[in-house]
Amino acid sequence: MTGNAAFSQQAATRRRVVPACDHCRVNTALNSPRAVCARCLRPQSTCLCALVQPTAHRTEVLVLQHPQEQRQAKNSVALLRLSLARCDVVVGERFAPAQLQALLHRPGRDTRLLYPDVPAAPAAPAPAVAEPLRLVVIDATWRKSLRMLLEHPALAALPRLSLDAPEPTRYRAIRAARRSDQVSTLEATVQALSRLEGPSFDAAPLLDAFGRFVAGVAARQRPKEGTGQA
Ligand SMILES: [Zn+2]
Repeated sequence: MTGNAAFSQQAATRRRVVPACDHCRVNTALNSPRAVCARCLRPQSTCLCALVQPTAHRTEVLVLQHPQEQRQAKNSVALLRLSLARCDVVVGERFAPAQLQALLHRPGRDTRLLYPDVPAAPAAPAPAVAEPLRLVVIDATWRKSLRMLLEHPALAALPRLSLDAPEPTRYRAIRAARRSDQVSTLEATVQALSRLEGPSFDAAPLLDAFGRFVAGVAARQRPKEGTGQA
């Protein structure tokens, strides 16, 4: 293929890019694949707004997202945030004590941290769960989440909710999980909400949408990873 042909194909590809949702249109002055969707905050070419599944729930969810996760194409939190009505995402690695206290607690709600009881950061004895709850989730790699926990005593002191037997992850296709019990932030949060809220919480449509999200990311990865692999 000549350089010109490559250029023409690239230009044609660019012209075919259409806004994936109304929010993309707002933010698409240059009609560039790099334009960011104002709603899901992802590049227009990978906008996931069409996958959003409004899912009824009672528990407030606060995601503390490590800055590196925000830039990951594979990250599941944007789909979670847009599908849950009560889900806030705060990006950061270090939080001032007063700022963190204000984020963690809401009047009339008990707060739980979705995190296992691990030797490096033992959990305090937790009182029985009493709804309504505020569920705090750390979105980071295992190592970075542990560091965030250890560096923030207010986080480490929260009563914890841990998933005893997480379900198999749909995530495996796109992200190497080092341990069999490591799941995506979306799946872990959904499992926690199912446990807290029981049958009234119907996660099936959201998990199906997440499966389609994973399949889309895997399909985009394949051409890049197909070279040089035995
Ligand atoms: Zn979008």
